[in-house]
Amino acid sequence: MEEAEVKKYTEISKLGEFGLIKHLTEKIELLQPSTLKGVGDDAAVITPPANGEVMLLSTDMMAEGIHFELTYTPLRHLGYKAIAVNVSDICAMNGEPTQVVVSIAVSNQYSVESLDEIYKGIRFACKEYKADLVGGDTTSSRSGLVIDVTILGKTPKEKVVYRSGAKPGDLLCVSGDLGAAYAGLLLLEKARRTLGADPAEKPELQGYGYVLQKQLMPRARVDIIEMLRNSDVVPTSMIDISDGLSSEVHHICEASKVGCLLEEVKVPIHEETIKVAQENGATPSLFALSGGEDYELLFTISPADYQKIKEPTMVNIIGEILPAEDGIMIAAKDGKMHPLAVQGWDGLKAK
Ligand code: ADP
Ligand code: MG
Repeated sequence: MEEAEVKKYTEISKLGEFGLIKHLTEKIELLQPSTLKGVGDDAAVITPPANGEVMLLSTDMMAEGIHFELTYTPLRHLGYKAIAVNVSDICAMNGEPTQVVVSIAVSNQYSVESLDEIYKGIRFACKEYKADLVGGDTTSSRSGLVIDVTILGKTPKEKVVYRSGAKPGDLLCVSGDLGAAYAGLLLLEKARRTLGADPAEKPELQGYGYVLQKQLMPRARVDIIEMLRNSDVVPTSMIDISDGLSSEVHHICEASKVGCLLEEVKVPIHEETIKVAQENGATPSLFALSGGEDYELLFTISPADYQKIKEPTMVNIIGEILPAEDGIMIAAKDGKMHPLAVQGWDGLKAK
C-alpha cells in the first residue's frame, strides 16, 4: 500500500503579517550594485542609472481564474512566470532588468508552505535575470490569488527601442518559435476537464514537455537582447509576444505607421506544437498567429543591420515592412495574399 505523503501545513495566521514577510524575504540575494536597500524599510533605496542610461518601468498583474488556474499550475512555476513576463517587457524595450517589487493578495486559507513555493519560483527567476527583489506588499484576498509585479530596468538612452520605429524595407523578425504556449494551455485545459469528468482517467501529458514548459514557465529572451547588443544591432522597433503574433504585428505597424507582408510559411513552429494542433483538428499556423503567451520577441531591423547579427540562427525572418498604403498583409501557404486578421488568444481560449 502506498504511504500517504504528509505535507506540512502552517496557517498564515500563525506567523502573522510581519512574520510572513520576514519568512518569505529572508533568503533574498541582492545582485545589483544600484540596490542600496532592499526589503525591510519603508521604501527601497536605488541609485538611478548614470552615464546616459535611462530607467525603464513596467508592471504586469496576474489574477487567479483569469491569467492562471491553480488546478494545473505548480506554484513555483507561477512565481517564476510572474517575474519572467515582466522581464520580457523590459527586454522588449531593449533593456535589462534591475529591480522588482512583488505584491501579493492571498486568501488566509493559504498555507505558508504554498507561499514558500511561489517565492521559490520568484527567487529563482530573480536570480536568473539578475533582478533584485526589493520590496512589495502583502494583503489578504477573499477571491483568489493575485500576484502583481512592478519591474525596473535600464538601457543606454540611444538604445531604447519603441514599437514605433519600423521603416519600409526593414525585415520583420521573431525569436524562438510560436504557438507552443497555447498548445500547452490547450493540453492542460483538456486534462482539467477530463479529470473533472472521470478521476480514474489519466490526462495525456506525456511527451509534451516542450509546450507545457512554454505555457507554465516561459523564459524571457534576455539572451536575444544580449546577442543583439554584442552584434551592435539596435532593432528599429520591438514588442514582446503576449497576445499572439497577428495582434503584435498590428501593434508595431500601427505605432510605426507602416504596412507589412508576413509570410505564413516562414513562421517558426515547434514539432510538438504542430502535433497538438493536428490532434485537435486545427492548423498549426492558427496557434502560431493567434495563440498568446509565447513571450518571444518580435522586432524589425534594417537589412544592413541583419548582416551584422552574430548568431543568425537565433533570428527568424518572417516578413518585410512595407509602406502604410500597402496594408498589413499575410502571404498564406497557398501563395494568396490576405489582410492579416487579428484574433487575440482570448478569442481562441473561449472556443
Ligand atoms: P508597510 O506597512 O509600510 O506597507 P510592510 O509591512 O507591508 O510595510 O512591508 C515591510 C517590508 O517588507 C517593506 O520593505 C516591503 O517592501 C516588504 N514587503 C512586504 N510584502 C512583501 C512581499 N510580498 N514581497 C516582498 N517584499 C515585501
Ligand atoms: Mg505594506
